[in-house]
Amino acid sequence: MATRYKDTFVNSQTYEMIVIGGGPAGYAAAGAAGVFGHRVALVERQHEIGGAGINFGTVPSKTLRETALALSGWRSRQLFGVDLSLRRNATIDDFMHHSNDVTRGERSRVLNRLGELGVEFVHGTASFVDPHTVRVAQSGEPNRTLRGDFIVIATGSSPFHQWRRSDPSVRREPVPAEAPLPAGEH
Ligand SMILES: Cc1cc2nc3c(=O)[nH]c(=O)nc-3n(C[C@H](O)[C@H](O)[C@H](O)COP(=O)(O)OP(=O)(O)OC[C@H]3O[C@@H](n4cnc5c(N)ncnc54)[C@H](O)[C@@H]3O)c2cc1C
Repeated sequence: MATRYKDTFVNSQTYEMIVIGGGPAGYAAAGAAGVFGHRVALVERQHEIGGAGINFGTVPSKTLRETALALSGWRSRQLFGVDLSLRRNATIDDFMHHSNDVTRGERSRVLNRLGELGVEFVHGTASFVDPHTVRVAQSGEPNRTLRGDFIVIATGSSPFHQWRRSDPSVRREPVPAEAPLPAGEH
């Protein structure tokens, strides 16, 4: 044991696998290890699990698209004799309500499944102390130190042009009244 980290090691918790990042890659890795009965900790710096896939990428964008197709009557246009009326009074809140609902449901489905598999969810930002030791910083709380035989780094990626990075919150600027609703495949 390295003397420098002696105190840290004494107060650390030990896992067979530590996964850094609670997005689709991270929770899938943690879940797979859990299925095989391994002791796993999953560290996520956001309060919510799910990463871009559940929180502001795949799931919300496809839910918003489906909501737009439903509210615009596009779906029913393919059914002969079905009312084609467009809900012109649909608001951003109508869109967001359904999207938030689906996102919440997905997060809780994933968390429940990880819980069933015995994966420990640790909130905080992970950094390496050494190849088998991870420090987890949580604002307002003492740092935690986790020891792992294997460490999976699943922290996602960022675009090269930082200023074009997706904003986690969907922007709510007013939409011009004449703006068309999306109707095709994107
Ligand atoms: C608008 C949009 C739409 C998309 N639509 C689709 C789609 O339709 N189909 C599709 O297949 N893909 C889609 N994607 C891509 C998909 O979301 C990503 O490929 C996927 O989320 C990548 O998963 P990941 O786990 O690798 O990374 P991420 O989802 O980015 O998760 C990484 C996680 O690691 C956490 N993290 C980072 N650093 C640390 C740290 N030091 N300590 C603790 N936690 C940390 C982050 O907070 C994050 O939660 C879309 C993406 C966007 C932005």
